[in-house]
Amino acid sequence: MCGVFGIRSDDRDVARLTYFGLFALQHRGQESAGIAVSNRGRLTVLREMGLVAQVFDEEKLHALPGDVAIGHTRYSTTGSTHWANAQPVVHHGAARTVALGHNGNLTNSGGLRRALEEEGVKLDATSDTEVIAALLAQDTARLEGAYSVVALAEGRLVGFRDPHGIRPLALGRVGSDWVIASETCALDLVGARYVRDVRPGEVVVVDEEGLTATQALPEARQALCIFEHVYFARPDSTLAGGEVHGARVRMGERLAAEAPVEADLVLPIPDSGTPAAVGYARASGIPYSDGLIKNRYVGRTFIQPDEDLRRQGIKLKFNPLAEVAGKRIVVVDDSIVRGNTMRQLVAMLQEAGAAEVHVRISSPPVVSPCFYGIDMGDDGQLPAAHHTVEELREQIGATSLHYLSLEGMQAATRLPEASVCRACFTREYPTRVPAERNLAKLRFEHAR
Ligand code: SF4
Repeated sequence: MCGVFGIRSDDRDVARLTYFGLFALQHRGQESAGIAVSNRGRLTVLREMGLVAQVFDEEKLHALPGDVAIGHTRYSTTGSTHWANAQPVVHHGAARTVALGHNGNLTNSGGLRRALEEEGVKLDATSDTEVIAALLAQDTARLEGAYSVVALAEGRLVGFRDPHGIRPLALGRVGSDWVIASETCALDLVGARYVRDVRPGEVVVVDEEGLTATQALPEARQALCIFEHVYFARPDSTLAGGEVHGARVRMGERLAAEAPVEADLVLPIPDSGTPAAVGYARASGIPYSDGLIKNRYVGRTFIQPDEDLRRQGIKLKFNPLAEVAGKRIVVVDDSIVRGNTMRQLVAMLQEAGAAEVHVRISSPPVVSPCFYGIDMGDDGQLPAAHHTVEELREQIGATSLHYLSLEGMQAATRLPEASVCRACFTREYPTRVPAERNLAKLRFEHAR
């Protein structure tokens, strides 16, 4: 995941606007936050572990005057969890110094890192972003995989996106100034108007003359991550011109048509399952209830990088209302990745006296890992890769379990099938993926 934001302005407080932009993108990464500012070419970077509001305060923002700023919220993917991987990263290259924030995941970073090191380039961090920064500083384009990037180079704001457009990147304007952000909800917060998406393979450069757009790499098969519609993006954002919330409600409506059940209440797993539960309740006629209360001050469980933290997080996070006792409940969530959350929630509802717990998921089973920046673990950690739906139902202890079909999910997004990545549901990847990772896993499975 990760969230990126960038702005250039001669008269606005760019660091403060970047702070607010990052605040709107906090859901895309909670591990670290950072802002890099250029003040007439002089670069200052502040990045720390923690939430945006923990990392920055008035005093720190005040110390970041400038005319261009980029910011980043990080969700740990490639590279371990420590400060060196917080972004923006700064790379001092032979041709130029760049600061850079990246959302996505390279599928050829290992080879590129080795090649760069052989060429004498010094890389400090373990993340892909350092590799991209080094290549950008060298004027080289050898990247494969997913990258939506904001960068600051020679006092200019730069945005670019991989040729498949796997992660989103939106362009907006506030007055005559240009803004780049992972999602349109960040444009809304800083008062910017959405203009268009940065096109796949396109590089946009903003300087005092305005914006220059170049199709740097030929557009490849479009592959916007469909999981952005299912879960990752904020519901008030638009993706490829369509509102995310509306797509999620339609997923719920289709789920009700595909997997009906006689029940007394429809409950969402808040907040990720809420729009789909609204859709399910609307289409089925079963009353909607906020029967699971969420403690809003605990981070999203899925986003915690560590398995133990994830387990503890679930107990901290939800508590059922007494009204579930004696009722036949339909529980709706957007996805099941590893299944730990759902198993505990079903048990929690049964302990609260629910007569039946029917689980409905508004996306298909996740059967394959993501190589484009989403930490789902490998095949071995994805139960749906190895078990039937009936076996999964038994594992989570539900009365019944149904997933939305691939066709149902696709139709709900109103995007053509050929324009999205659905690889974690279909195993059909839009780019080359590192085969050795799969092979290593298979060998391991075989050895057991
Ligand atoms: S594999 Fe899944 S999560 Fe990853 S980019 Fe494709 S659709 Fe999105």
